[in-house]
Amino acid sequence: MHDCDTLLTRFSLALDGALPPAEAAQVQADLANCPECHARWRAMQRFDQTLRRSPLLAPPRDLAAAVLERIAKQHAHDRRLVGITLLIGGALSLGPSALVGGGLCLLLLLLIQPGLLQGLIALLVSALSTLQALLVTLGAFHQVFGVWLLPLLAAMLGVGLLSLTLLWASRTLPSPVIMINN
Ligand SMILES: [Zn+2]
Repeated sequence: MHDCDTLLTRFSLALDGALPPAEAAQVQADLANCPECHARWRAMQRFDQTLRRSPLLAPPRDLAAAVLERIAKQHAHDRRLVGITLLIGGALSLGPSALVGGGLCLLLLLLIQPGLLQGLIALLVSALSTLQALLVTLGAFHQVFGVWLLPLLAAMLGVGLLSLTLLWASRTLPSPVIMINN
């Protein structure tokens, strides 16, 4: 008779074909003599076969492709960031040059077309007179409202901003009535 527990410890080596031929033959002989061990052996054999067949234990075939694709996307993203940074840096460094260039062009235009200078001066004068009119109006308001002028102006500004915000919200956000109906 064999010791069932000892035989059990050899099963996994036997399944892997790792036992020397003489020992493997002994295991087979013991199995033939013991229905209990034979049942265990069959169960282990089935379990082993299931493990070897199971596709779940192997990595998905497209895993490597997915990982590579992800790395490529990350690289593309990094390149985009570098591109945007360069673009902004270039634009910022171009700004002063554009200003100087624009100023020179304006100067040249003014030299070629003296009438333009008069137009510009007229524009400046009218802007200044508008500002002056505004100040005069403010002065008149100040005489009427006294110390309340600044709070009044602030309140008007607030109401104006609020109206603009409401207008913007009514155009960009869905109407609450529609939201309720839906
Ligand atoms: Zn046994």
